[in-house]
Amino acid sequence: MRFADITGQRDLVRHLTEGVDRGRVSHAQLFTGAAGTGALPLAIAYAQYLNCTDRHDGDSCGRCPSCVQTAALAHPDVHFVFPVNKQGKKSGETILSGSFMPEWREMVAATGGYFSLQQWYDRLDLGRTLRGMISAREADEIIRSLSFKSFESEYKITIIWQPETMTEEELEHQRRNQEILGRLTAPMAGMEYEELSIGTMPAAWTRLKAPHGERRVILYCHGGGYTSGNLGYSRVLSSKLAHATGYDVLSFEYRLAPEFPYPAAVEDALRAWDHLMLLGYGARDVVLAGDSAGGNLALVLCNRLKTAGRKLPGTLILMSPWTDMTMSGQSYTERAEIDPMLTPEYIEAVRLAYAAGQNYRSSDLSPLYPLFADFTGFPPTLIQVGDHEILYSDSEQLYQAMKRANVPCRLQVSEGMWHVFQMFPIRKASVAIENIARFLLEQ
Ligand SMILES: [Zn+2]
Repeated sequence: MRFADITGQRDLVRHLTEGVDRGRVSHAQLFTGAAGTGALPLAIAYAQYLNCTDRHDGDSCGRCPSCVQTAALAHPDVHFVFPVNKQGKKSGETILSGSFMPEWREMVAATGGYFSLQQWYDRLDLGRTLRGMISAREADEIIRSLSFKSFESEYKITIIWQPETMTEEELEHQRRNQEILGRLTAPMAGMEYEELSIGTMPAAWTRLKAPHGERRVILYCHGGGYTSGNLGYSRVLSSKLAHATGYDVLSFEYRLAPEFPYPAAVEDALRAWDHLMLLGYGARDVVLAGDSAGGNLALVLCNRLKTAGRKLPGTLILMSPWTDMTMSGQSYTERAEIDPMLTPEYIEAVRLAYAAGQNYRSSDLSPLYPLFADFTGFPPTLIQVGDHEILYSDSEQLYQAMKRANVPCRLQVSEGMWHVFQMFPIRKASVAIENIARFLLEQ
């Protein structure tokens, strides 16, 4: 399937091909849209473009062996995962997408990739009541296949169709896989990793093996929409931060929604803070850092300390922080098309999981919300954000609000970058992490 076979979407296609041509390919991309808008054909055409050996004029050639295999949905490095049901298979047999590849190929070939979930279930003869799902075993399979080297192509690709059909019971497995991915990708050379418990909460120190200053520490709050993320996930940014700054980094596994909605995460963050105080660190020696929902958590923690009349951390480092759960920022609409990672629907889903029934305007949920935002007395703050993210306004408006309160604050916008790009093994991420180290030296 070539981009030329796809109706419309020219701007998006140009954005994707330019990214590939400049060597900017994000590890994970989410294509969303109403049924029939062609997210699947777009993903297949993108996979074909990535591995084509003769790309030209902004499209794959359609003729090289890689293109021919991809078009036939038979490329050894392009995997498909989609919801299935054991209907028609022997009971006891493990049901994975791979068992339904013949039906899948037929369906894509017959429709050009434009079909709805119901049409797919009809093709599987599921009748009116049965649904398909992506199983936990399938998630394990994804990790397994991605951890092998590619057979012959530059890129190893897994296309997951209808990822929301992973049921809630699969969430645990998804989180475990996130843990494994973190372990696979964190740059841990020269690092020491020590796990500990803060009360019942798992936590970990990440520190340089080489001798280094020990007066200042980083308390790192991981992202993941308050519904995912864990110590494994935290390793990526923890190790990058420890490496660049020489400071020891404490990460902690706060309880997650929907099982543990607000205020569980805030209570756990306070517990981690108190742990550092018990160890004898001065509040001013602590750099409080967070990405995405972790940036939200860092701001809420800071606010809680301030309200309690306690000492605040010495510095705040926020990477693509989520500061406004009311989703009032212009970037939610203006940048939805170019954001390769997040969708407004995802933000709505996780805020509901975390804070259903709560007032999203409370300072404990939306530190930014203008009626409540008073950042007077906040420590020097560095905010980093990509200009291709729907959360851009969350950073921009936070910066304005902090400036109004005379907080020494800096906003660094990275061109063409996506949500928490600092996690990726790319040059712009290294530059951003170095900027964090430089900012800390200036304080
Ligand atoms: Zn080709």
